Amino acid sequence: MAIVEAPTTLERIYLAGEWIETGESFEVRSPYTGDVVATVARAGAEEARRAIESAEQAMREPLPPWRRADILERISQLLREHGDGLARTICAEAGKPLKAARVEAARAVNTYRLSAGEARRLTGESIPIAGTQPGEGHAAWTVRVPIGVIGAITPFNFPLNLVAHKLAPALAAGCAVVLKPASQTPVSALRLAALCEEAGLPAGWLNVLPGRAAEIGDVLVEDERVRMLTFTGSAEVGWGLRSRASRKKVALELGNASPIVVEPDADLKLSTSKVATHAFSFAGQTCVSIQRVYVSRELVDDFLAQLVPKVEALRVGDPADEATDLGPVIDRPNYERIRAWLDEAIAAGAEVVTGGNEEEGLLRPTVLTGVTPEMKVCSQEIFGPVCSVIPYDTLDEALAAANATEYGLQASIFTRSIEPAVRAAAGLEFGSVMINEAPEWRVDQMPYGGTKASGNTKEGPAYTIREMTEERLVVLGGL
Ligand code: NAP
Repeated sequence: MAIVEAPTTLERIYLAGEWIETGESFEVRSPYTGDVVATVARAGAEEARRAIESAEQAMREPLPPWRRADILERISQLLREHGDGLARTICAEAGKPLKAARVEAARAVNTYRLSAGEARRLTGESIPIAGTQPGEGHAAWTVRVPIGVIGAITPFNFPLNLVAHKLAPALAAGCAVVLKPASQTPVSALRLAALCEEAGLPAGWLNVLPGRAAEIGDVLVEDERVRMLTFTGSAEVGWGLRSRASRKKVALELGNASPIVVEPDADLKLSTSKVATHAFSFAGQTCVSIQRVYVSRELVDDFLAQLVPKVEALRVGDPADEATDLGPVIDRPNYERIRAWLDEAIAAGAEVVTGGNEEEGLLRPTVLTGVTPEMKVCSQEIFGPVCSVIPYDTLDEALAAANATEYGLQASIFTRSIEPAVRAAAGLEFGSVMINEAPEWRVDQMPYGGTKASGNTKEGPAYTIREMTEERLVVLGGL
């Protein structure tokens, strides 16, 4: 598989089973070196309309569930075979450290495999229709029918597996897809399309359109042939799309400012290891990176004493180096935004315990203390390698502080006792509550999604398929 070693070769869009030039292109640059890693044909509104047409056309010849499953299994197998090349592509275009990119590629194998399993057992239910007198002499059952063409928009930070979380369930559900990948990371999605083609996915079932986000987004919102829009990315863009798409289903997977609560009886070795890993992996650019660390006041000194050496041991540098833990953030504007939020917090009294500076032009993993709730490093999603350690006196106070955010994706508590764990599970207003595990923890079959500004749906093949199918009731009379 070509990775990105020939950046001058044009990467074409994938539309109606053809690889197409559009007459326009844009460059994808390495977030680490700034070098061009790919030149990609740019799609716009016209290609989006053609892609919807081809998706609708494809769905006129439905694939039976067993074929969907066979194709998904084959895609999974090809992903496994090409795992190394795909990981290198993710690393090149996203700047994701190779070891994290390999984990993403391996997870995508599972996402397709799990979706194949769901396709084989996709079913409705038998309805106890004779439970009231008028139902006598009838039988009834439901079937799950594909909702229709799916529009999918994905972010830069998991360019393979977050595409997988939309495409694999859509195919399992019997829906064709028009995908708009992030402009910073379109190549992984194009490589995936090539594997789908090789796996025997007929034309039109997947269309991949890197290009003008607002234009393509508008078509996906306005064209009524797209029956569901599934979006993963920032809250601002996601809720904006939803507000304009009143007549279709819109599924949103958005941001977070993930909190953890560390109780007085917590395992310090475990909780500090989790913070060192999950506040900083991929330079903090996952939607569930640990950002706010609420630590029982009596523990703070010991907690920091264990955390700091682990953070300082993280290797910062070239993402293509197998030993690197943290590479660059995605682009200069984001680097500058994170830097500005840090400087603002420091000017307002926050203290840098470690980090705050650069190494090879990259932001070092940074731990702050002395932050207050209104500082941006605490109140907004930082999406960078920065976390804040904040002392608390009572569990109620910690839970209230953790909840004092517009977001609600995943949160954690570290404790050895059942009572605070149960109170946190009940009191943390998040889509998932982890006990003695990081909020970044995810396996691909679990229901994953947030409340409040973080979204309105759950992803995970079985849950997404439910969203991407409609329940049809069938009633048989005259019995
Ligand atoms: P983003 O800026 O919102 O971009 C996401 C996608 O939306 C990209 O494909 C982007 O295209 C597209 N887009 C931008 N403006 C658009 C518009 N007006 N209409 C239609 N599409 C538009 O987010 P990002 O920076 O890539 O990703 C980071 C965010 O994603 C963070 O907030 C993170 O928390 C969130 N996230 C959430 C999850 C989850 O599962 N909950 C997972 C990962 C990331 P262009 O690239 O062409 O601009």
